[in-house]
Amino acid sequence: MSMEFIRKLPIPQEIKKEYPLSVAFELVKEQRDREIRDVFTGASDKIVLIIGPCSADREDAVMEYIHRLAKVQEQVKDRIIIIPRIYTNKPRTNGTGYKGMVHQPDPTKAEDMLEGLISIRKLHRRAIEETGFTCADEMLYPENYRYLSDLLSYVAVGARSVEDQQHRLTVSGMGIPAGMKNPTSGDLSVMFNSIYAAQSSHTFLYRGWEVHTDGNPLTHAILRGSVNKHGESLPNYHYEDLLLTQHFYAEKGLVNPAVIVDTNHANSNKQYLEQPRIASEVLHCCRHNADIKNMVKGFMIESYLVDGAQKVGDGVFGKSITDPCLGWEKTEDLILRMAEMV
Ligand code: PEP
Ligand code: MN
Repeated sequence: MSMEFIRKLPIPQEIKKEYPLSVAFELVKEQRDREIRDVFTGASDKIVLIIGPCSADREDAVMEYIHRLAKVQEQVKDRIIIIPRIYTNKPRTNGTGYKGMVHQPDPTKAEDMLEGLISIRKLHRRAIEETGFTCADEMLYPENYRYLSDLLSYVAVGARSVEDQQHRLTVSGMGIPAGMKNPTSGDLSVMFNSIYAAQSSHTFLYRGWEVHTDGNPLTHAILRGSVNKHGESLPNYHYEDLLLTQHFYAEKGLVNPAVIVDTNHANSNKQYLEQPRIASEVLHCCRHNADIKNMVKGFMIESYLVDGAQKVGDGVFGKSITDPCLGWEKTEDLILRMAEMV
């Protein structure tokens, strides 16, 4: 047999029972979820900032980073809701390399899926308990979602997963905002079909169960730029792209039209230092056009303690081992400036 079944792993209920979130923090999450929901329904005119490293590669550096974010959150709380990116599952362009903490709790050591599941739960739980932040993660593997479902306040479906049916159906059963990224090809109709599917109700097979979902009205778009047939990046955060996105929303009859602009990936061509300029250009578009302002609900920014990226094993504390990130000083400056522009 070419697939070796190494060992049976605990189901989400078992891991949740062993590493529970206390009732006090369940209430913190409920309150956060309400405030974030209000942004997506239009009841609040704050923006959300989904910000943090491309990958949460080590607990100590991520905790240091979000403790710093918590201080900035206090200063901008009237305008911005910060949702830290704690991305524990990483899709890889050619499928190889570091796949995130869920695979490798220590990126320099061997894969260990049990330790991985425990580590990601502990990290998300620690974030809430120490900073009050409930965080964002990518749902790369729909069957793993429920290991974290009581901890997350935001979920993204990545550019390489957005066309997949199981991702769409799983999102349709979530009670929190879920961002569908445009696919790497840039075809917005794929993203809008994905939003449509996830806003609808479904009956399907999930983790060995027949399940029914109500549809998730908080499913929305994330614009991350695209890559053409020559492998060149094409941005999609400009004014005309936002108008086109608005046009799609109007045509499809979706609820809660919302866009998050991802300032890195193919929008910056991974020129991570461009992220502040991109955010301010989009905020300018918002000032120019009230309909765009109503639709753009926030930003996704890749940021960490140290500018740039390094190879796995280089060992710089707080420097990304996947996509290059904006370092701390520039990040703090960016958030404070954004608060003035919103
Ligand atoms: C990411 O957010 O780090 C990511 C992998 O994004 P995308 O799916 O847009 O490539
Ligand atoms: Mn990334």
